[in-house]
Amino acid sequence: MADDDHYRRWTAQVERAGHCVRPVRLIGSAMTVNAATGEIDATYSSLEEPGGVLLVACKDRRESVCPPCAARYRADAWHVFAGGVTPADSATNDDGDAYTDAEDRLPHSMVLATFTAPSFGTVHAARDGKVCRAARVGRRGKRTCEHGRPLWCDARHNPGDGMVGAPLCEGCADLAGLVLWNAHVGELWRRTIIYVYRALAALAPALDGRPVTVRRVREVLRVSYAKVAEFQKRGVVHLHVLARLDGVNPDDPDQLVSPPAWAGVDLLTAALMHAAARVGVPLPVVDGRAAAVARWGTQLDVRPVQAGEINRARVAGYLAKYATKTVSDSVSGLPASRPRADDVDLSEGRTLPAHVAALTQTVRRLARLGTCRALRLARHVHTLGFRGHVTSKSRRYSTTFAALREARRAWRLARRARERDPWAQHDPDGDDALTVMVGDWRIAGIGYRTLGDRVLAEVLGREHRQAREAWRLGLTE
Ligand SMILES: [Zn+2]
Ligand SMILES: [Zn+2]
Ligand SMILES: [Zn+2]
Repeated sequence: MADDDHYRRWTAQVERAGHCVRPVRLIGSAMTVNAATGEIDATYSSLEEPGGVLLVACKDRRESVCPPCAARYRADAWHVFAGGVTPADSATNDDGDAYTDAEDRLPHSMVLATFTAPSFGTVHAARDGKVCRAARVGRRGKRTCEHGRPLWCDARHNPGDGMVGAPLCEGCADLAGLVLWNAHVGELWRRTIIYVYRALAALAPALDGRPVTVRRVREVLRVSYAKVAEFQKRGVVHLHVLARLDGVNPDDPDQLVSPPAWAGVDLLTAALMHAAARVGVPLPVVDGRAAAVARWGTQLDVRPVQAGEINRARVAGYLAKYATKTVSDSVSGLPASRPRADDVDLSEGRTLPAHVAALTQTVRRLARLGTCRALRLARHVHTLGFRGHVTSKSRRYSTTFAALREARRAWRLARRARERDPWAQHDPDGDDALTVMVGDWRIAGIGYRTLGDRVLAEVLGREHRQAREAWRLGLTE
């Protein structure tokens, strides 16, 4: 801070890294070369920076790891989700331009559905100050389980209570079933979509006087979706899904077209319910038990999503909220990321609640079984067997995270070019065929070098967020 130039350069770096709290420190240099002439347009070396390092954002999705990077991811997720919801039923699209004939303007049938897991044993629950589990009284007094444990709990738990999500009786809880369910939820979803097409065929009205086959349905309808996995306190995954019915243009499969008029929101809702009730994934046989099948829980919540800006913002915000969460945000004691070695005992050096420790031990035990080898569970102890991505979508649902990053990069280059930054003089519109970037970088470390740097970066980040908030308020007033 004593050196004006250093301070200016350093704050510019921190800002460029989005005020990341644990940036990657890079050492090296790069140059842009004109591909046609071989001339060097610009050179850059980290030696020009204070401390000789370039700071790059960690780009972590998880709120508990890096709040600023998670905020950016959440904003991107919002756009990915919102991009798939039909905007206000006006004659203009997102950019305020009038729709062209090629674009689609009719609202599609759309629902927000929550697919839950079945029960793997009764657990303690926080119920807004109400009693956890009221006792049911039988002929011989209050009922207990076969292990002699009470089947009731008079406590009033807070949501932050480590007990919440723990089974009333560990002996009755089906921990292996829970872990195997988590490990198969991705496959269960994949099969659910197949079943949805079958259900659509079964429920659709006769077309051209003929009953509708699955093949015919796939010719005229497409199910697009975006989904987020959310961990429950009991350690099991739920899926929040935005599902939409699209039509199909046989000449241009990538074009987004409205579905036929008979494919309304009631048909989509019925098809999802129909599929969820029937689909299943056979589970590997463990512990000498009978062959089991992973199915959805009975609580399937399906709500129609109306077109329009408010609904669009509401459902996108609802899903984006889950996109930066990890299992550690719901299940206390678990780390936010996978330990470096698969055989690390997660309970070491942390206080894992007993039921969480029992779950991680179950994953590790199943990982060693021959019947579970293909699941590679040892890599997924910290997610209690869940192996998929938290956020995912079907190909034609909306835009992609990559497209959003590319748009941001182009905008940044354009701004730098406007500011006459010598480092970004090449064509901001991405005509990169003329220039090639050549670089040689290595990682010097992760995070700020000193506590002072870190604190300063946090202060700058806070100021930046406040300025942004003020700007937004100014916009809305
Ligand atoms: Zn970061
Ligand atoms: Zn309880
Ligand atoms: Zn029991």
